[in-house]
Amino acid sequence: MKRPALLFAIAAFLFATSYSVATAADASSRPPNIIFILADDLGYGDLACYGAKDISTPHLDRMAAEGTRFTDYSVAAALCTPSRAAIMTGRYPGRSGLATGVLRPDATHGLPPEEVTLAEMLKTRGYATGCIGKWHLGFVKGSRPMDQGFDSYYGVLHNLDKHETVVFEKEGGMPVLRGDVVEKRPAVPSEMTGLYTTEALKFIEANKERSFFLYLGHAMPHIPFEPSARFNGQSLRGAYGDTVQELDWSTGEILAKLRSLGLAENTLVIFTSDNGPERKTPGTAAPLQGTKHTVYEGGLRVPFIAWWPGHVPAGRVSHDCTLAFDLLPTFAKLSGAALPADLKLDGLDVSDAWLGKSAPSADKPRTLYSLYGLNKRRLESIREGTWKLHLTEPPVLYDLEMDLGETRNEAEGRSDLVERLTKVAAKIREETKNPAAAKP
Ligand code: MG
Repeated sequence: MKRPALLFAIAAFLFATSYSVATAADASSRPPNIIFILADDLGYGDLACYGAKDISTPHLDRMAAEGTRFTDYSVAAALCTPSRAAIMTGRYPGRSGLATGVLRPDATHGLPPEEVTLAEMLKTRGYATGCIGKWHLGFVKGSRPMDQGFDSYYGVLHNLDKHETVVFEKEGGMPVLRGDVVEKRPAVPSEMTGLYTTEALKFIEANKERSFFLYLGHAMPHIPFEPSARFNGQSLRGAYGDTVQELDWSTGEILAKLRSLGLAENTLVIFTSDNGPERKTPGTAAPLQGTKHTVYEGGLRVPFIAWWPGHVPAGRVSHDCTLAFDLLPTFAKLSGAALPADLKLDGLDVSDAWLGKSAPSADKPRTLYSLYGLNKRRLESIREGTWKLHLTEPPVLYDLEMDLGETRNEAEGRSDLVERLTKVAAKIREETKNPAAAKP
């Protein structure tokens, strides 16, 4: 076991033994199951419950009606690998060396073993941990899901676009793995949502007698977005919308499974996305500006629905600002797991916001630094509360409360605020090991 994981496993054991021991038959006394469903490149405006008129998402709409829909949840970076690193560790991706770029299958590095992942943390509370789908945090030994706290893995570790499939061209195409074993190749984009859903239902059934954590990283609607035959032509937004409707069906299957097994009241389900929609696709972040590969809200702010009958308030829309970093400390609180003992976390426990217990304090605004790209097309922003500064030359300031679409520069006459936020950004950039721009 990795050293930080061992240290906090001991702490978690001491913590756990102070609690009453749950019996397998009594689901309500066990730590809650957690299912984290991550769509890939799904935009803020791509679900009906977030305003889409041409994509039908009845299951996700029902999930939102039975749970809480968040309007102000942001990821750490508008790109798959850095965003997923922050989700998995509760830390800025720079801390794990993954601040910029994506990890192709031929990358020689990945998520470092020293990081403590959601799965490693939840295992200390006895969770069964399953990873299904896209990982994108490393292909090399030591960084794959089963090296990072997951008991099982099924899926394609990477994207199915040509930038990544090219690496496997001579071997017969992108592999679908079960654990470390190739189960089939090439992976067929239109089959992935169906395969992942089948695996997810099997995982839930197999672990219904114990606490489980399922990380389901869908391939869709990332390029190449291809629906299965059953969903082809079903939406009013072409193949892109069809794949979103297939994700909606998949989520409905998972929630139905939980209900049929009597696990709904003991299972927290989250549905969200790793970043905003890809440029030049039918995906939309409306009413936000920007896309993936930017630091506009459209790249960073994504749908986030929390569902846990009897715990997460039903029919609620929350405007609380929550961040991807918060997942790890919040899962820790809800599961009773100890936080990693010797790693600096960037997120907060936001279980009160999820459970509708209290609104965050207005005098403690959340701060989010975001970076895209290195020295070529380098984009940076810093958000503090409703103020957001783009670190351009000259800097551009937006008030998200009055101008969510980031269209009116408020920098003039606010040089003190601009200066202060610039310093906050520099401090976070340095502290979290985000690379600085090269000197001209
Ligand atoms: Mg993505």
